[in-house]
Order: sequence, then structure tokens, then C-alpha cells
Amino acid sequence: MEFMTEHLAALRKRNLYRETKTIYSSQSKYVNMNGKKIMMMCSNSYLDLCGNIRLKNAAKAAIDKYGVASGGSRLTTGSYNLHEKLEMKIAEFKKTEKAILFNTGYMANVGTISAVADREWIIFSDRLNHASIIDGCRLSGAKIVIYNHCDADDLEHKIKLNPGCKRMIITDGVFSMDGDIAPLDKIVRLAEKNNIITMVDDAHGTGVLGERGSGSVEHFDLQERVDIQLGTLSKAISSEGGFVAGSKSLIDYLKQKSRSFIYSTSLSPAVVAVSLEALDIVEHEIELRKNLLENAAWFREKLEDAGFKVLKSQTPIIPVIIESEEKTMELSEKLLEKGLFINAIRPPTVPKDSSRLRITLMATHNKREIKYALDLLKETALELKIQS
Ligand SMILES: *Cc1c(COP(=O)(O)O)cnc(C)c1O
Repeated sequence: MEFMTEHLAALRKRNLYRETKTIYSSQSKYVNMNGKKIMMMCSNSYLDLCGNIRLKNAAKAAIDKYGVASGGSRLTTGSYNLHEKLEMKIAEFKKTEKAILFNTGYMANVGTISAVADREWIIFSDRLNHASIIDGCRLSGAKIVIYNHCDADDLEHKIKLNPGCKRMIITDGVFSMDGDIAPLDKIVRLAEKNNIITMVDDAHGTGVLGERGSGSVEHFDLQERVDIQLGTLSKAISSEGGFVAGSKSLIDYLKQKSRSFIYSTSLSPAVVAVSLEALDIVEHEIELRKNLLENAAWFREKLEDAGFKVLKSQTPIIPVIIESEEKTMELSEKLLEKGLFINAIRPPTVPKDSSRLRITLMATHNKREIKYALDLLKETALELKIQS
């Protein structure tokens, strides 16, 4: 086992060693960490619903009625009316014929891609796609063609170079570490022209983008034109689970073929009840999204004014590029000491020399809190002599 200790030491030396940080409270814009009140600015719970009273009550009611676990996989004893209700609600939300639940977004990607594609397929995949897409592509055995990030021209070029009748384009709707939105309009047009299947993983768009909050596909008004709409209930929805929404035949096919759907115990009824309630909040409390996006735009502008290198985006994800792994770590640690939690994101999650603080806002953060965070960032970057 010596190779492990050596590997760990090397990671530490390169500032790439990662550690979990422990939270002792509900995840909201303030959390308890080691007995201190800390401002949270890197959660994926964009609508700040983890401690929401309606969601907590929905979970309690589901526990009272159905107990605490599902007791089986969906195709054995683990299918409850709640699971079916949630699948119907997701299909309605995404404007598709049907939907299917997975236990996580990760499992949804791995299980879907490997069920749809095999060795005879070619998959065109954005360079910055999420790790679970990459793993799903690898598992499928398909030929993987990487195109430059959000670059429809490069995609078109690579489509020409790789003819075939079994082809699929897969992209994040909103990129998790960059926060930008994929050019879905161009991608779908290319796909239709060339008779290629499209798959969008909208983990970070769901509940955030689009008039109804259903995500990036709605943002571009492409609901009828994307073949496979994947998403998670673990980000803005503040619950757990992944899903795929699409045609009846796609969903029925996945139920027969997707191994991560078939061979895993289904989500606990309480978690499913939480998702149902949260989707209702997304539909009706439009102010939450509006606030979130406005505040994010404002914060991004202020950070740029202060000289930080901020990636352009129209989402609550605001990446501040520091480049050096060491400096990014130092900055994140110093901020935490001062009461502000912003995770340092380093390779292999992001490419080399693009380490960053990944700031994410919640719908409940207000201008005063954002200003406070901005001042702390400026002051700490100055202390650490970080060029920005
Ligand atoms: C978080 C994320 C996933 C995985 O979802 P989980 O429900 O956390 O497993 C998949 N795709 C993208 C783009 C993500 O950001």
C-alpha cells in the first residue's frame, strides 16, 4: 500500500490534497462550522431550500405515512405512488411525455449514456462536461469526440470528420465550474441538420433558468427539440435524486436497460416528497429566481470592478480565477477564518492553472451580505498579494 502514501504525499505537496469540511447545521446562507457562524457562498442549494419549513414538513409527513426507506429497487418492491407522482411532475415541468427517476444525477448520467450508446456509437462531448457524463461515455464504450468548450463551430467541424448514423451530442446546460450556458440553440440546429441525438445535463439550470424555472432548455425555448433532458434534484431543488425527461419510448427503454436504475434501491419516500414540494415552490415563487439572478449579476459586476478575474456567466455560479493552486487554497482558508466559506476548486475538477474560488449565491443573499463578502475578498486578496 506504499503507493498510496506516496501518492497522498505528492498531492499534498502540489496543493491538490482535498479535505471535507464539516457543517453542524442546516445548509443555508449561514451555517455552523466548528461552533462559528459562517456565511455560506458556495452551496448548490441556490434557492436556499434545505431548511425550508414546507420541505421539512413534507419529509416528516412522508416518513409518518411511508416510513424511512423504500425497501427495494424500483422494479422490485421500491416503487411508491410518490415516485410515480414525482416522475409525472418532472415530465410536466420539463414539458416531455415521460420522466424517470434515478438516485443521483451521477447515476442518471452513467446509466442513461451507457444504456443508449454502445461501441457502434460516436458521442460528441463538450470539453468541460461534468465527470458523470465523462464516466457514462467511457462506460458506454462509444467513440468519444471532445469539442472545444461551448464552441459550435468546432462541433460542426468534428461532426463532419466523424460521419455515422448512431451519433449523440452531450453537453451540460449550465457548466458546473464555469457557470456559463451552453449554446443550445446552435447545438440543436446542428444536431437536427445532421440527424444526431441531443442530450442536455441541466443539473445547474433546473430551478434557476427559464421563465418557469425548468432550466436551460426552456431558456432557449427548445423543449420539443432536445431528445434527452437530464437533471438533478440535488442542486436548486435542495433534495436528492437525478432524472431523465423525454419521449415515452426513451423512458420505457431506460427502465428496461439502464443498470443504475435497475440495480439500486430506490430513493427514500421522504426525499421524493421533498422534491415534489420543492418543485411546487419553484413553480410558484418566481421572486426567488429573479432575486438570485439579479444579485449574481450585481456581484459579478462588483468583482470585476474590483479587478478580479471573473468568468462571464448569467447564472448564480461566479468563478473567480486565481490560477495558482496554492494561492487559491490560501485565499479560501483565510476567508473561512474570517467567517466566509467559498470553496477552492482545483484540478482535476478544473484544468491546470485555472484554480478558482467558485462563488455561488443563494436567492436569500441580500446586497448588504454580498457587499460584506466583496470587502472581505478584496481585503484578503490584498493581504495574500494575489494579483487580480
Ligand atoms: C452535480 C452534477 C451532477 C451530479 O448530480 P448528483 O445528483 O449530485 O449526483 C451531474 N451533472 C452535473 C452537471 C452536475 O453539476
